[in-house]
Amino acid sequence: MRCDLCYQSEPSTYVELHHNVGMIILRRVYTTEGELCRSCLDRSFWHHTLRNLTLGWWGTISFIMTWYYLLSNVVTYVQARSELRKARPRREAPREAVSGAEARRILEPFEHNVRMRLRDGETPEAIAQDLARFHGVELGAAQQFVDEQRQAA
Ligand SMILES: [Zn+2]
Repeated sequence: MRCDLCYQSEPSTYVELHHNVGMIILRRVYTTEGELCRSCLDRSFWHHTLRNLTLGWWGTISFIMTWYYLLSNVVTYVQARSELRKARPRREAPREAVSGAEARRILEPFEHNVRMRLRDGETPEAIAQDLARFHGVELGAAQQFVDEQRQAA
């Protein structure tokens, strides 16, 4: 999800934050509304909170509305933070495991190594798992490769 303020594709969540500016008789409300990432959420929350605290109170209705906005912003903020905590940070897409001829080409340089390990008494399964993990090939392809080395040895 893209953040509406900084346009980074970070996990973001929808919030509405407000602050009141009291002017004795008149008042104005400023709102931030949109999908925000964590750092923009923090920045917006403090932006509105600071202004509510300093500019909010001046006027009867303003006094009430400022309390309301302070509290509703805190509720929004706490909920949004927990939403964002649930959203996993983006991870690198897992590399596609390679199989077939491509796997063979990757594993070929390790023929000797595999035969040595077999001779040392390691199980073919353990060797295949290592190969699959370190070289990004499918486990099946790695197993087949190890079996071939075992037969050739
Ligand atoms: Zn942002």
